[in-house]
Amino acid sequence: MEAPAYAIAQFCEKLGGNLLQMAAPHAKLNYLLTDSRLYQGQENAVFFAIRSGRNDGHRYMESLYAQGLRNFVLSDVAYAKNMPEANLIRVSDTVVALQQLAAAHRSNFQIPVIGITGSNGKTVVKEWLFQLLQRHKRVLRSPRSYNSQIGVPLSVWLLNSRHEIAIFEAGISEPNEMTKLEKVIQPTVGILTNIGEAHQEHFESLAQKLREKLLLFKNAQWLVYCTDQPLVKYEVAKMTAENGPELLDWGSTPEASLCIGPPKFSEKGALLNAIYRTGHGTARHLSIHIPFKDPAGIENACHCWRYLLHLGVGDEEIASGMAQMSPIAMRLQQLDAVHGSTLINDVYNSDLNSLEIALDQLCLQRKHQHYTAILSDLVQSAEAPHDLYAKVADMLRLRHIDRFVGIGPNLLAQQAQFKGIVSTFYADTGSFLAQFRHADYANQNILVKGARQFTFERIIDILSEKTHETILEIDLERVRDNLNYIRSLLKPETGIMVMVKAFGYGSGAYEIARTLEYHGAAYLAVAYADEGITLREAGIRMPILVLNPETGSYDAMIRYQLEPQLYSFRTLERFEQALFAQESALPYPVHLKINTGMNRLGFDLEEVPELAKRLSANEAMRVATVFTHLAASESPAYDGHTTLQLNRFAEAYETLKAMLPYGFKAHALNSEGIFRHRAAQYDMVRLGLALYGISNSTAFRKHLKPVSQLFTTISQIREVKAGEGVGYSPKKLLDRDTRIAVLPIGYADGLPRALGNGIGKVLIGNKLHPIVGNVCMDMVMVDVGDAKCEEGDRVEVFGDNLGIYEMATQLNTIPYEVLTGISQRVKRVYLHQ
Ligand SMILES: *Cc1c(COP(=O)(O)O)cnc(C)c1O
Repeated sequence: MEAPAYAIAQFCEKLGGNLLQMAAPHAKLNYLLTDSRLYQGQENAVFFAIRSGRNDGHRYMESLYAQGLRNFVLSDVAYAKNMPEANLIRVSDTVVALQQLAAAHRSNFQIPVIGITGSNGKTVVKEWLFQLLQRHKRVLRSPRSYNSQIGVPLSVWLLNSRHEIAIFEAGISEPNEMTKLEKVIQPTVGILTNIGEAHQEHFESLAQKLREKLLLFKNAQWLVYCTDQPLVKYEVAKMTAENGPELLDWGSTPEASLCIGPPKFSEKGALLNAIYRTGHGTARHLSIHIPFKDPAGIENACHCWRYLLHLGVGDEEIASGMAQMSPIAMRLQQLDAVHGSTLINDVYNSDLNSLEIALDQLCLQRKHQHYTAILSDLVQSAEAPHDLYAKVADMLRLRHIDRFVGIGPNLLAQQAQFKGIVSTFYADTGSFLAQFRHADYANQNILVKGARQFTFERIIDILSEKTHETILEIDLERVRDNLNYIRSLLKPETGIMVMVKAFGYGSGAYEIARTLEYHGAAYLAVAYADEGITLREAGIRMPILVLNPETGSYDAMIRYQLEPQLYSFRTLERFEQALFAQESALPYPVHLKINTGMNRLGFDLEEVPELAKRLSANEAMRVATVFTHLAASESPAYDGHTTLQLNRFAEAYETLKAMLPYGFKAHALNSEGIFRHRAAQYDMVRLGLALYGISNSTAFRKHLKPVSQLFTTISQIREVKAGEGVGYSPKKLLDRDTRIAVLPIGYADGLPRALGNGIGKVLIGNKLHPIVGNVCMDMVMVDVGDAKCEEGDRVEVFGDNLGIYEMATQLNTIPYEVLTGISQRVKRVYLHQ
């Protein structure tokens, strides 16, 4: 992220730091780095060593220094050693310093700055305002949804003298955060989108959260808001009673200065009629048409409308701008492509900032060695093409992108700038597709980023071989949120081992592992050696425990640094032999499983003294952890048994502790155990199902976000008469004329046959429709009656609106089985932050 450069001394002063060491006094700093993985040798970069959750940026300083980085802001001087050529700035809190720096930078600008907060719609309002304002002004807005304590200062830092107006969003999840963001953004205009339940866990009430959000506007001159939520109206009035921003209100009641009537829907959107009362008792009728029909879209558009009226933009100009607003694709999508490649699809924004973020995301993929970027002309940038594409070429060179495909007239004209990069250029998407060969795109990481008018969906379709329209969508942001919630239940020093067995409970072990590696999980666990090898080959470096290693795989495990669970004297002896045969570095870490009452794998209690004796003299291996598994941690009815298990485990643990000449760690709790038996957390816990957002207990479930949703599409709709049957060997004939939708998902995809004949249901639009007839291998039919739906419509099999619990109940099983039963042929699509 770039902004004007500051000399080191000035930089240090702005963030209120202490220059611990100045080895390069002439350094000009401008590239703020908070994620060590994004360092690519950028000149003028400065790294902020941030502690968050269990991740500690200080730990990456040494390796960044070795890679050539020379400027650091840190809080822990213990890490300031052995860096003779570095500039080191010490502060007491690196996040506070980052905010202070951005606040000082912000104060240099006198332009209008819009600050947006609220529970939903922040990013959409920001992007739509950008689309609307960009027609007249040079606008800066926060990249993506950079709205956190770190994201906001990084956004504000991008301000430079060319900008005429700026839009930043601010998101909070805890009390006292907004005041900090207000100091950084210093908004002159506020927009409150709405207030809802999102991020409620750290607040006592909705009103408390709302008051906290309103702090963003305490020094603003104007505030745009909707009067329809009584709580919002009340709190805003209270805030502005003495002093505060002038209100730019809108709503459905006549007191609102922009009073909006009920929307009239058309094929393509909604017509909004309003009466606008200006200060002097004058009123005029206005109307706009927007290309959206959903209530959230209408609400977001009205915020924009109210602000544009305040700015004095002409009515016709507003109407034409709002008719052309386009939908916002908020998330970067990652999916598998042809011939083993991995594809990142990003249609969000077409400017330098978003390109840089997308390229960084591409570089974080370590699955393959080769990197390809396919980009269209950047259409949201005011810079002259020559300068703009020189910067694009620099970004590609810096990140060692192996191959570049540029599509669009500007890129074609600027191709000389891409010297030294293997590249090809096309005037439009059609000419690219005409020359496309699958073989050119095998086994690589590919970024596809095109502005909307270039219709890059067509490129995504051929690259991802979209032959099969059933997908499992996995939201990696929710994985992170679940991990953080679990963390909040544990002592700060307790480690988290995450179970990614069975292909990450069906969600994709590699992608989950990569997310967890970054968010500071301590360990991964898989069931079989093969699963661990796949992770290692894809570049995962965290310690990995193999729960169920077959003795035949020991050699391979040692080669890939995978750590076995040992559960019997036989496995211990075999593993020892394998270690000696391999000449690997010894002692090798191993994990002991104690059977305390599950009666599956494990050493029995009586064997523990003998085990301790053998291990205390064993040079080949060293016990890393000792653990047991609870048989019924979720169930109050079994609490007596759980206590017995935990007592037995404590006994085994004490015996080992007394007899082994070194320390080791212990763990006993799985997901439900963490929730219900937290006192027994020892040094680590083993998190499984809850990470994926699922729990058997409704109390636990409330705090978790299910990460996966299974979608399919309607292939065909046909009308079928009463008396006809549907599918193979129908059990029953139709008792009325109806419409039948055929869906491309069957038992080979993980939709069990037991759901046939009315037992299972799917969601189309917002209605449930029963399965008719038997589920086939690759297809299933549902009775849609006269519901409004068409071929190509999306169908939810389970997800946010139809919980996986439903399907588990219909099948008389548990969600674990449903999730892990989704076959590998169902394409996984990952949503990133
Ligand atoms: C699968 C597994 C877990 C995780 O269980 P959840 O109920 O999914 O949290 C923990 N420990 C062991 C040994 C396991 O096999």
